[in-house]
Amino acid sequence: MKEIICLGIEATAHTFGVGIVTNEKKILADVRDMYTTEQGGIIPNEAARHHEQLKEHILEKALEEAKLKIEEIDCIAFSQGPGLPPTLHVGKNFARELALNYNKPLLGVNHLCGHLEEGKFFTAAKDPVYVFVSGANTQIIAYEGGKYRVFGEALSVGLGNALDKFGRAVGLGFPAGPKIEALAKKGKYVAIPYVVKGMDVEFSGIVTHCEQLFKKGVAVEDLCYSLQETGFAMLLEVTERALAHTGKKEALLIGGVAANQRFIEMLQIMCKERGVKAYACPLKYSGDNGVQIAITGLLQFTTKTNMFTTEKEIQQAAIDPTWRIEDVAVPWMH
Ligand code: ATP
Repeated sequence: MKEIICLGIEATAHTFGVGIVTNEKKILADVRDMYTTEQGGIIPNEAARHHEQLKEHILEKALEEAKLKIEEIDCIAFSQGPGLPPTLHVGKNFARELALNYNKPLLGVNHLCGHLEEGKFFTAAKDPVYVFVSGANTQIIAYEGGKYRVFGEALSVGLGNALDKFGRAVGLGFPAGPKIEALAKKGKYVAIPYVVKGMDVEFSGIVTHCEQLFKKGVAVEDLCYSLQETGFAMLLEVTERALAHTGKKEALLIGGVAANQRFIEMLQIMCKERGVKAYACPLKYSGDNGVQIAITGLLQFTTKTNMFTTEKEIQQAAIDPTWRIEDVAVPWMH
């Protein structure tokens, strides 16, 4: 079979990334640039401007890294959603322009699906329960009955954003996750709420409670330790129930919070007790990037899924800012 090369464009939020990957699992390029602000939040139109200004340069660098001309690429994939509409538009317009100018098929990739497929690509996991914990997203997902299904999720703020919110309140700067991890090593447990509702988790009240304890003079190290232990235990309780329900034998940690060594250790302990294999996506690929879009684009190309080929189809390919993972067609999993 001829080697297939996919170029993936990621633009759902702060990162503009171009990844080039082959169906023989070779990563030929991974170039990305992240829009950042001193305060830590994202202003969507500013992020879109950042992407607009850098897109050509990032594409050029990626092609240079891959030692390829764009004519040698077989298909173009782009992150179609979910995400911020202004940044999604930049990625979609750029991908459409390339597909039309160079007569390539275009593939619309779900960003969350990109994270899931990338997690499997870089580990030995085949059909795991996914523990997806990034800044905005916190979901326990598994493939069941022909689809990826969300078994439980954070009801308001995701765990990464909750850690960042606490960090901002106590002056740790952004992103706070790594600093909380370091401080937690010197902390001890203080009682804070543990909020699991059915299969869902809720972090916002816990963060407010920790902020109040901080104002009352409780040591920041103790709060970091308690916040980590509680937040991770809540997620692992839901994960364990998802494993019991589905009977799956693997759990895979993905998203920025997967960088946390204590989280990985707690996952490993729970999995060992259940006779389940624990995996974590490598740090380098836990954040947003073009490689995850290219990996998923290849799966879609080979199964002709959400693929736009005619000029009219490509011109009409639109973004979907609220696209849920349950609504993604994944025929390669059947
Ligand atoms: P999303 O992909 O959901 O839009 P995002 O792109 O902001 O969100 P990621 O880049 O995957 O998310 O992850 C960033 C988050 O990971 C931040 O909230 C950060 O604090 C957290 N994080 C990074 N390192 C650690 C760590 N060592 N411990 C805990 N959290 C961490």
